Amino acid sequence: MTPDVIGIPFAGLFGALFGSFLNVLILRLPKDESIVYPGSHCPRCDKPIAWYDNLPVLSWVILGGKCRHCREPISVQYPLIELTMAMLWMAAAWHYGPNLTALTAAVFGTLLLGIAITDARHYLIPDEYTWGGLVIGLLLSLRGGWDGLLQAVIGAVTGFVILYVVAAAGEKVFGKEAMGGGDIKMMAMVGAFVGWQGVLLTIFGGSLLGTLIFVPLQLKQKRLVPFGIFLAAAAGLTFVFGEQVIEWYMDWVMGG
Ligand SMILES: [Zn+2]
Repeated sequence: MTPDVIGIPFAGLFGALFGSFLNVLILRLPKDESIVYPGSHCPRCDKPIAWYDNLPVLSWVILGGKCRHCREPISVQYPLIELTMAMLWMAAAWHYGPNLTALTAAVFGTLLLGIAITDARHYLIPDEYTWGGLVIGLLLSLRGGWDGLLQAVIGAVTGFVILYVVAAAGEKVFGKEAMGGGDIKMMAMVGAFVGWQGVLLTIFGGSLLGTLIFVPLQLKQKRLVPFGIFLAAAAGLTFVFGEQVIEWYMDWVMGG
């Protein structure tokens, strides 16, 4: 198979542009601001940012990471997210070829990135990623026909119900909210992309990552756990490797 010399750079360009948009979502959704109005402006001097100063990655490099007007530094987070998105979309196009599965992978990765960063910074997961992502996931599942849609619906219900029960049980046991509503809605969205088996794998993987990485940190700092980060990482891995892992697990259960 020869790599797609037109499709992959094209995917990278789209990824960078959507990365620019994701930066806006990451900045504005937690504050309940409109994502279209007003247009991009410098957070320090409030001057609008012209289109030529808003090109993904390039403008930040050309301007030396500073606002053209007030020369205040612009966070390196902006070009980093645009670059990450460009690589994510190129990887999807390279791995799956020019088809709807590649688009689904890229869109899912975009939602997960937005969730992970927002949860890390604000301890919340906006509905636009979860309920909005659920609708997008159900639409994209139609690439597998009605059966694809059915699997996506079952996956979404499974994710929602399991986390709902875990959250309710956690509240009973610990007497306080152990898991946010955002995590519950997030797993409905994830289920639409990875199906019910993928949901189980995601919850298992997310809990494992969370326990290994965050519990030691939390014991030291007594900080809240942004569980969405670990669920997001596990969901992404499940999308790419889930089928192999489930197959391997079933073989093992059946005794080879
Ligand atoms: Zn400025």
